[in-house]
Amino acid sequence: MTRLYNFCAGPAALPEAVLRRAQQDLPDWQGRGLSVMEMSHRSDDFVAIAEQAERDLRQLMGIPENYKVLFMQGGASSQFAMVPLNLGGRTGSANYVYTGIWGKKALAEGQRYLPAHIAASSEGNGLTRVPSQSEIQLSDDALYLHYTSNETIGGLQFHAVPQSPVPLVCDMSSDILSAPLDVSRFGIIYAGAQKNIGPAGLTLVIIRDDLLDQAKPETPTMMNYRVCADNQSMYNTPPTFAWYLAGLVFDWLKNEIGGLEQMAIINQRKASKLYRAIDTNAFYSNPIDPEHRSLMNVPFRLADDRLDKDFLKESEAAGLLNLAGHRSVGGMRASLYNAVPEAAVDALVDFMQDFATRRG
Ligand SMILES: *Cc1c(COP(=O)(O)O)cnc(C)c1O
Repeated sequence: MTRLYNFCAGPAALPEAVLRRAQQDLPDWQGRGLSVMEMSHRSDDFVAIAEQAERDLRQLMGIPENYKVLFMQGGASSQFAMVPLNLGGRTGSANYVYTGIWGKKALAEGQRYLPAHIAASSEGNGLTRVPSQSEIQLSDDALYLHYTSNETIGGLQFHAVPQSPVPLVCDMSSDILSAPLDVSRFGIIYAGAQKNIGPAGLTLVIIRDDLLDQAKPETPTMMNYRVCADNQSMYNTPPTFAWYLAGLVFDWLKNEIGGLEQMAIINQRKASKLYRAIDTNAFYSNPIDPEHRSLMNVPFRLADDRLDKDFLKESEAAGLLNLAGHRSVGGMRASLYNAVPEAAVDALVDFMQDFATRRG
């Protein structure tokens, strides 16, 4: 069996070591005679798996004691509604930073539940830069400030955490765990799992505990952070297998990579190699201001888009999968999440140079 290099934006590559371990465990987890998928979520074995995953995540990210970690469902898209529902119990407005397609979706959903205010927008610069601190203007009645740390489709990323006098809420779906982070700066961090955490079906929410009791009364039980926290994320049946696999990924980050500092160094190196290949060859281009480029998702265009189809066909034949840009923007995109090895980037860079020489 050959594993190819997978640059998919999500569901994305998982570490090979994690897949091998899951394979080994699959029919008979630790000699119990059944798989994790077949265990009761209330069993001692599964509860131990769940608690270990949370401990490892807390250690990796340095999550302070006064934060809860919730293992939820519904994807990051459900958080677009859960955030305003759970923080909207008091009078005030929801503030949003708009930097791209995901930020826009969060705003559109948020304003169904609360008055919304755009605190800053990258629309004026064609979504090529994230707003600076001085460009962020909160409304007087702001309940929270929401932003998207990494725009997965546009390929622009905040490289510093904005300051905010009101709770900062971040959609970190595509760059969580990619580098060290000061969690204490945030009110809520959320992320769909299928980019940098594990398989699809799990959504991670990290929330400061004073924010658990501000929900609108009509908040559905299954969407209420307090209910989720009080029930150890097991008010109903959680996505047990995805939770277990996320735990294996946390263990891999801790013990094989050596933590988030190490991961950040590797991610920085991977992204610089690819951006250098784009910037030093006139056949390729990336529109994002270099200071605001994403280290996780690298969109790029060919000088002649009539060659896009050939590029995709030939790259796939060379074992480089899923390089097509998002359907809404076209072009190419290489996602370089934690589980994408540096060798994959080297192979992509070699292919790009070869393709440009032959066809450019
Ligand atoms: C993928 C993604 C989403 C959507 O995630 P789902 O889990 O599919 O709902 C939201 N925000 C960002 C930044 C993403 O990358």
